[in-house]
Amino acid sequence: MKQLVILGGGYGGLRIIEHLLTPDLPDNVFITLVDRMPFHTFKTEFYALAAGTEPEMKIRVPFPNDSRLNVKYGEVERIGLDEKAVHFANGDTLEYDWLVIGLGCEDKYHNIPGADQYTHSIQTLGATRQTYTAINNVNPNGYVTVVGGGLSGVEVASELRESRPDLNIRILDRGESILSPFPKKLQDYASQWFHEHDVELISMAQVNRVEPGVVYNHDQQIQSDAIIWTAGIQANRVVRNLPVEQDNIGRVKLNQYHQIPSYPDVYVVGDCASLPFAPSAQLAEFQGEQIALILKKDMKEEEYPASLPIIKLKGTLGSLGKKEGFGVMGKVSLVGQMPRVMKSGVLWLYKKHLG
Ligand SMILES: Cc1cc2nc3c(=O)[nH]c(=O)nc-3n(C[C@H](O)[C@H](O)[C@H](O)COP(=O)(O)OP(=O)(O)OC[C@H]3O[C@@H](n4cnc5c(N)ncnc54)[C@H](O)[C@@H]3O)c2cc1C
Repeated sequence: MKQLVILGGGYGGLRIIEHLLTPDLPDNVFITLVDRMPFHTFKTEFYALAAGTEPEMKIRVPFPNDSRLNVKYGEVERIGLDEKAVHFANGDTLEYDWLVIGLGCEDKYHNIPGADQYTHSIQTLGATRQTYTAINNVNPNGYVTVVGGGLSGVEVASELRESRPDLNIRILDRGESILSPFPKKLQDYASQWFHEHDVELISMAQVNRVEPGVVYNHDQQIQSDAIIWTAGIQANRVVRNLPVEQDNIGRVKLNQYHQIPSYPDVYVVGDCASLPFAPSAQLAEFQGEQIALILKKDMKEEEYPASLPIIKLKGTLGSLGKKEGFGVMGKVSLVGQMPRVMKSGVLWLYKKHLG
């Protein structure tokens, strides 16, 4: 038997499995999916879980049940590329013929003292559960600071405003405006939404230290009952520790078939892969489909295509609470209820697709 091991049942890993578990999967291939969680989680909705507007049951589904798939639960500690083995925190090892690494990303703290200790995260399900507890335990009229005004910072702050109208919420961002990678029309719309909903926006921020209950912005102390960190991401630690070429956020540089050039039996998908796009669920899925195609060629010992289709992404949708949102589709910027309805529709379709 040949063993394919897939690390991470997120958007990328799950899409690969879906595309492999077809009638033409060779009989001599066995697939093992490894994850620390017993289900696939919708990371794009973690902001709502943290804010308390969606229960956990609504943002997760079981992994596929198929006799050709084994699911192993465990915490991946290290990958031995030369020995072709995965090492787990509990001492287990798992050998592979082909490996897919789809372990997602972690917060990046930019070496700011205290940031990793005294802020809450929405990057993993476990961390998001703790963030939910912390925010919802803040006393009435308390202060919550969100550090980082990108997509996830904006989504968690707006959702929290609807969940806890009593709280004093502010977003610190190092740019001139929140949502800096987005068109100005969207930045202005979101800023206006926060203004109308009494969320303070602090621009040109320079967070240089975090202590329990205090964010230091330049020299100013910002007292906070809870601090949420959404100010940057990097590849999973397991991936950053690999002795292979990486980009400035630890994502692995790959060949045109999404393989590590010096280890062509190892594929990297999603937030761990260095691609010329910002990390996203959509990108992880698109890339996952291409990896499944090439893996089938490996399994059937067939020739690879000369090239793979160019990755074309559909756009980005963001939410401002449950009723409004924003989005970019090609060159078109959308604001208001329509992009919010579209975002909910995308989630509905995704859930329906996964059954
Ligand atoms: C609040 C928020 C909102 C977002 N909104 C959007 C959006 O609107 N649209 C969009 O396209 N993208 C969005 N993203 C980004 C998107 O969620 C990620 O790009 C996407 O999840 C990446 O998919 P992935 O398969 O690489 O990893 P993930 O989906 O993160 O999956 C990684 C898997 O690996 C497992 N894992 C990690 N480490 C270990 C370990 N050591 N041992 C065992 N298992 C492990 C995890 O449990 C998880 O199941 C958002 C992200 C956040 C945080």
